[in-house]
Amino acid sequence: MAENNIECNSVVDGNVEEVPDKKIIKFNPPLYRQRYQFVKNLVEQHQPKKVADLGCGDVCLLAILKYQKCIEELVGVDINEGRLKWNGSRLSPCVGDHLDPRELDLVITLYHGSVLEKDCRLLGFDLVACIELIEHFDSEDLAKFPEVVFGYMSPALIVISTPNSDFNSLFPFEVFRDSDHKFEWSRTQFQTWALDLANRYNYSVEFTGVGEPPAGSEDVGYCTQIGVFQKKAKATESAISGHHGEHVYEVVYTTSYPSLQQINYRKRVVIYLVYREVNRMRRGYQASLRQHELEPGDPTRKFSSDLPVPIVTEADKAMELTPEPFCIGDKFYIPLERIIAYPRLGHLCGNIEKLRELLADVVELNCDGSAVKVDVHDCGDY
Ligand code: SAM
Repeated sequence: MAENNIECNSVVDGNVEEVPDKKIIKFNPPLYRQRYQFVKNLVEQHQPKKVADLGCGDVCLLAILKYQKCIEELVGVDINEGRLKWNGSRLSPCVGDHLDPRELDLVITLYHGSVLEKDCRLLGFDLVACIELIEHFDSEDLAKFPEVVFGYMSPALIVISTPNSDFNSLFPFEVFRDSDHKFEWSRTQFQTWALDLANRYNYSVEFTGVGEPPAGSEDVGYCTQIGVFQKKAKATESAISGHHGEHVYEVVYTTSYPSLQQINYRKRVVIYLVYREVNRMRRGYQASLRQHELEPGDPTRKFSSDLPVPIVTEADKAMELTPEPFCIGDKFYIPLERIIAYPRLGHLCGNIEKLRELLADVVELNCDGSAVKVDVHDCGDY
């Protein structure tokens, strides 16, 4: 977009640079990034589970939002099918997502279609973003937009951004910021439109923006104006499920992320953490034996007293209250009760039965299944 790519002939620190003779303004970070950051902050503040980006374009905002832990469903809709097809793979899980899976499931779907049409798969969302979208509508489309987004989708939160034409007086050109824009509104125009929608559809609305004006020009307001609409009464489950509508949009791309809700990933992470803890305790035991020149299993050697790991946290203290690891011959045993006291494992497994189930077939346990059994001398890197 034009405002993001304006050339400048010098660089200064801060958000905005003005070069008086050329009236060139440069935003730092770029304006589009400030808009995405604004939506990201909203997500962090409101913790929505289901988020839709209408007019998602190159899916840049979705690529940022996929890292938000609270989001379980992320949807992008755009009328430009080629753009969606080209960029969809940017949303695929990467190696890191497999190695360190998310806590919650995440499904991302890109739909090709017009946001002026109703599709029941867009119902029940917590947050809908319309970033630099409405100014691309002609008057007929603009008139249809509220009934679809506010009336039909009716999400808890809607964020709409659009250029603020009051700011345009600072630009060296007198045309719209993008050749496809059908209008650019002043703050009064945008706020009049937004307040009318809020009243009609029972939302509250707050106005803000991104892209601070340069010193001395504060009266023009933000370069991008933003309205944040919050639904006054939450839709009930029955109201949402009562909408049986059509599937109008075409799925262009969909992907689901590895998560700890999926048993294979949970098992893998639990096994990794158990081996890490087992090795840590075994190293502590080995160090203690060396220090006192004892053989494994020597009854005079208690496990915990010489652990090199200092006891500092509440979790460490809780672990100290659990049964200690012990040695019989050259085998080292770590009670499951102690392992599950490790907070992350406690969180992942919930109880000892579940821990035992997740370790089954992979980690050797003693005969009554109450402790992990490893070779005391083995320094295996599992
Ligand atoms: N929201 C993105 C961002 O901020 O980076 C892209 C903004 S771009 C200026 C506007 C986008 O809206 C384009 O990708 C365009 O294809 C899409 N668009 C325009 N009219 C649309 C409609 N009726 N339904 C869905 N998308 C539409």
